Amino acid sequence: MAVTEPTNTPPAAQTVAHEGILRRQSQRESAARTYARSLPIVPVRARGITVEGADGRRYLDCLSGAGTLALGHNHPVVLEAIRRVLDSEAPLHILDMATPVKDAFVTELFSTLPAGLAEHARIQFCGPAGTDAVEAALKLVRIATGRQGMLAFTGAYHGMTEGSLAVSGGARDVRVTRLPYPQDYRCPFGTGGERGAELSARWTQNLLDDPSGGVPKPAGMIVECVQGEGGVLPAPDAWLRRMREITAERGVPLIADEVQTGVGRTGTFWAVQHSGIVPDVMVLSKAIGGSLPLAVIVYHEDLDLWQPGAHAGTFRGNQLAMAAGAATLAYVRENGLAHRAAVLGGRMLARLQGLAAEHPCIGDARGRGLMIGVEIVDPERGADDSPAPADPELARAVRRACLDRGLIVELGGRNGAVVRLLPPLTLTDEQAEAVLDRFADALASAEQARTSAGPSQ
Ligand code: PMP
Repeated sequence: MAVTEPTNTPPAAQTVAHEGILRRQSQRESAARTYARSLPIVPVRARGITVEGADGRRYLDCLSGAGTLALGHNHPVVLEAIRRVLDSEAPLHILDMATPVKDAFVTELFSTLPAGLAEHARIQFCGPAGTDAVEAALKLVRIATGRQGMLAFTGAYHGMTEGSLAVSGGARDVRVTRLPYPQDYRCPFGTGGERGAELSARWTQNLLDDPSGGVPKPAGMIVECVQGEGGVLPAPDAWLRRMREITAERGVPLIADEVQTGVGRTGTFWAVQHSGIVPDVMVLSKAIGGSLPLAVIVYHEDLDLWQPGAHAGTFRGNQLAMAAGAATLAYVRENGLAHRAAVLGGRMLARLQGLAAEHPCIGDARGRGLMIGVEIVDPERGADDSPAPADPELARAVRRACLDRGLIVELGGRNGAVVRLLPPLTLTDEQAEAVLDRFADALASAEQARTSAGPSQ
């Protein structure tokens, strides 16, 4: 499907059907619904980066199923893999029993793992969501070490079940010790750069070694190489290497949550490969299922100390997801899409940073590969010595203006003020330009509307 501008006035019947579906959704669905609120569209067809709504309008989708669709919607190799399973009469659901489809998936996945883990790896199939795999990882290291405490980071996001929430930024759990995640723009130590990251590492090391630090030896440390929901914050490679050293020297398993960063998104196949660290556990979901639900943990065999049934679950044998996932992993690997994400992402980021120079409401544009964030701030309320405060209201207006121009983006970050771009890795140069043109236009119009309306209270 070619990328086109949103089509002209949709036929009345289509519009009515579209409105009816949205109305029934808001009447019948939970108050906790999320994307459905911020993106009031009714997708009926999708291919690559393009989504078509029931009202006939077309959108460039830079949300990609919350970073799931490495190859965009309905990629031919994914559809072909799914059709092959359907036509083969293979069982579609078969718990965690061995099948040729699963065997092929594991072989493909293991071929992509960082050297150092691949040859000692064990895999556990979890319930189908990222949060299920996070729970499994926490349980694994707690059982293997016999310890309870976890080290986690400010701003982290690991999912919505109890254990995952406990290690995420917004939650409190006495078993979780919170450590400062480095970042340049709002550095907790006020310095940013290498110095800020070094101070964050030193804080961690000191806390673990201080006999009166109040932190008993933990069962593990869980980290995202790029915080996604936390506002697209890439951790410096040197800092990650320090985290690896600190944990390895103290016998603390390191868990890398690659649910969002995996499968080429950040410019390497796995985000840990930028720094070269080898974690003890990798948490994988989203893109590994090739658009269908699938989650696993991959970990060093030395940790494989749990008993049969220690982490069971009904839905751990989704054959269609394994087939779609294996096809996706192979396609990303064979076509060098991680490298493509690095190159194209770098170019897009440079253009966004140029835009920031013209628009003071862009506090920061940052990212790694095709995981990009633009932090929207209120420059009027900024102090000289610190970044301007986040402006979630303007960020929401930008998201809305993007949608009006046929561009789907979502918000993230501490205050919901970071516009996130997660396009498929198959994005063409032309599509990237169209995304940025629409974004720039949306930003200018939201900024202008805000200026005309006067300062917010
Ligand atoms: N970890 C990370 C890093 C994530 O970004 C997410 C989801 N955005 C999760 C875990 C949870 O995944 P799920 O929503 O599939 O439970």
